[in-house]
Amino acid sequence: MARANFLSAIANLGKKRIRTESDSTRQKEYRERNQEAIKKQRHLHYLDNRDEVLKRRREYREKNRAALNKKLKEYQTNNKIACLTYYSRSDNPACAFPGCTINDIDMLTIDHVDGNGSKHRRTIHGGNKGGHGTYLWLIKNKLPDGFQVLCFNHNFKKHILSGRAE
Ligand SMILES: [Zn+2]
Repeated sequence: MARANFLSAIANLGKKRIRTESDSTRQKEYRERNQEAIKKQRHLHYLDNRDEVLKRRREYREKNRAALNKKLKEYQTNNKIACLTYYSRSDNPACAFPGCTINDIDMLTIDHVDGNGSKHRRTIHGGNKGGHGTYLWLIKNKLPDGFQVLCFNHNFKKHILSGRAE
């Protein structure tokens, strides 16, 4: 091999360094050890390059919109399934209303057992959005007691019954 070729082969070897398992472990440990410093550095970079950072972030979101939406949806669905499973006390979440066999997760919701659901939602989000916010709230609060799974019809029926009782 000619000397020039040999030298360029050596140079390329250096460039083609393959990331090993221990490299990524080391990087991960470094990131964990320096979490605060990295966060601060990132924020300073953001302050100095705000427009550029926002532009790149926007471009990234636009370019990856479908994938990001899919990921968000999966995240929300996983949170919902986790809550429904926990509050159903079953791997096959189902409505807790006696005799009801609804187990389609699209038709199930979390119900505040002895409470006014919409009042509770207002206190946990400051709004009455329901939906995913409720699941996040439950998870962040370590799945507190006092909730059950109902289908939407029986959730509605419960409000009718409690209205009659008043
Ligand atoms: Zn039901």
